[in-house]
Amino acid sequence: MDQYRVYGNPIKQSRSPIIHQTFAQQTQQQLNYKSEYVELDQFEQTVKEFVTNGGKGANITVPFKEQALTICDQLTERAKLAGAVNTLSFIDGKILGDNTDGQGLVQDLLNNNVQLKNSRILLLGAGGAAKGVVLPLLAQQPETIVIANRTIAKAESLINNFNNNKLSALGFLELGNEKFDLIINATSASLSGNVPPIAKELLANTDCYDMVYGKELTPFLSWAKENGAKKVIDGLGMLVGQAAESFRIWRGVQPEVATVLQKLR
Ligand code: NDP
Repeated sequence: MDQYRVYGNPIKQSRSPIIHQTFAQQTQQQLNYKSEYVELDQFEQTVKEFVTNGGKGANITVPFKEQALTICDQLTERAKLAGAVNTLSFIDGKILGDNTDGQGLVQDLLNNNVQLKNSRILLLGAGGAAKGVVLPLLAQQPETIVIANRTIAKAESLINNFNNNKLSALGFLELGNEKFDLIINATSASLSGNVPPIAKELLANTDCYDMVYGKELTPFLSWAKENGAKKVIDGLGMLVGQAAESFRIWRGVQPEVATVLQKLR
């Protein structure tokens, strides 16, 4: 049976095995997908052993996404621009790297009827996740994407990689009275119970998305809801969406996302 893995550290919390097994049942594909804990200094060796043993592909999660980029023989454009890889395919002994996080986000936004074309988007954060979503968001032809980050230099460096006049970089406190249609929280602030320090006036009648997800609304989303956000959406749909895109790359069939998302909720 074709073998797939998700590698991370920690990894116990990963929902990828249940998502991929459900996709496999749904599309009647014969495959085995397991999570595997990898010691911090064992990533490259673990992947290469898996390739040698006939593995077909792997997802990569925290903290190996950037390192994964360095072990690939070939990269997609979106992986290069993201500076990170979350999907590896092993073909004829070669390692091909892709990044499906941005596609997962965009698909989830569209599934939630969030308008992207001609919209004004505020992207909070400039880490790996933010980098990965810029190209797929630009492909939806928004009017503008403002990237705001605690460390402004990182937001500036991110936009310099793209050379696109729809992008600009600011600090959280420089956002002033701008009006946005959509705010995407791509910081990890919610994981530590924090909310990026942006003015609450920015939230009124705005769609708000947090890449973090959990049983309850994340701190950012509950704050956004209290302050008049139009829609609040967490990142579980992005997780299922990025998995669906990996599955499509590996198996050549498009799995259906909605039922899996319902099952996870
Ligand atoms: P990184 O560690 O690469 O980047 C973290 C980002 O969060 C940086 O921009 C950092 O700012 C900012 N940040 C951290 N803490 C705070 C805070 N207290 N206040 C304001 N900003 C803060 O992480 P990733 O980009 O890889 O991931 C970001 C989040 O997205 C994670 O929580 C991750 O779980 C989630 N994610 C969800 C996915 C999904 O499928 N739903 C997929 C990928 C990621 P600074 O640069 O100043 O340090």
